[in-house]
Amino acid sequence: MLAGLGIAADYYDPMAGAGIAGQIRPNTRLLWIEAPGSITMEVPDVPALVAAARARGVVTAIDNTWSAGVYFRAFDKGLDISVQAVTKYIGGHSDLLMGSVTARNAELFDRVAPVRRLLGMGVGPDDVFLALRGLPTMLARLKAHEAATLQIAGWLRSRPEVKRVLHPAFPECPGHENWKRDFTGSSGLFSLVLHERYAAEAVDALVDGLRWFRIGYSWGGVASLAVPYRRDTLFNANGRNEPGHLVRLSIGLEAPEDLIADLEAGLTRLRLA
Ligand SMILES: *Cc1c(COP(=O)(O)O)cnc(C)c1O
Repeated sequence: MLAGLGIAADYYDPMAGAGIAGQIRPNTRLLWIEAPGSITMEVPDVPALVAAARARGVVTAIDNTWSAGVYFRAFDKGLDISVQAVTKYIGGHSDLLMGSVTARNAELFDRVAPVRRLLGMGVGPDDVFLALRGLPTMLARLKAHEAATLQIAGWLRSRPEVKRVLHPAFPECPGHENWKRDFTGSSGLFSLVLHERYAAEAVDALVDGLRWFRIGYSWGGVASLAVPYRRDTLFNANGRNEPGHLVRLSIGLEAPEDLIADLEAGLTRLRLA
């Protein structure tokens, strides 16, 4: 749609940091940031990206869904626009599709608002009810998601089938130092890289047989989710080309011990397939 309007987009390495300056062109208007990248989980150096953009008069916007707007304070970090999938932690129960755009000032907001109308992005009252219903328990849910996720990710890290756990709170995650400096917590979404000695079909056997994890792209709800990503497509898009199979998990509010037992049975299927 944007290409038809004469608007082009370039992509950059999420770890570019201050080096992003080399990619900013005279006609660049917007720098779009996601922190962390919601599949390969790199945590960019947001202040460096913002400083480079600002020096050239470029507006910055962040997809702040992973932190729920709680663990990363977008406006304190200098961003102009903060976007969230309300679908995720605010809704929290996997039964809502909604998003929010928050701008630093009225001038920026007035540029976004008419586009929302043109695209027909209305929000129904029943959906607003669900979002308001979710909001007061969000912090309590986030803390439960965070603790269970750290427990499960830590367990996965000790498993020989798992090559690497991509969770911003662990040092082996690209950008961990940025997470430590700029975030005050972590949420329920992370990825793991299974060893390349397994066939893609073995990874499917792991995922397809899960009992508590459902298969789904959305996340942030009460039910845990798993999605396998074929390594020759998305995982290599981060430019690091690490061989292996990426599986992304969203940890819900089930008992962590049940989820670990489920994953343990999945790793057995992986080995036997
Ligand atoms: C899911 C997701 C979105 C889009 O949210 P929907 O409300 O499901 O369309 C945007 N950003 C991130 C990081 C997401 O994970």
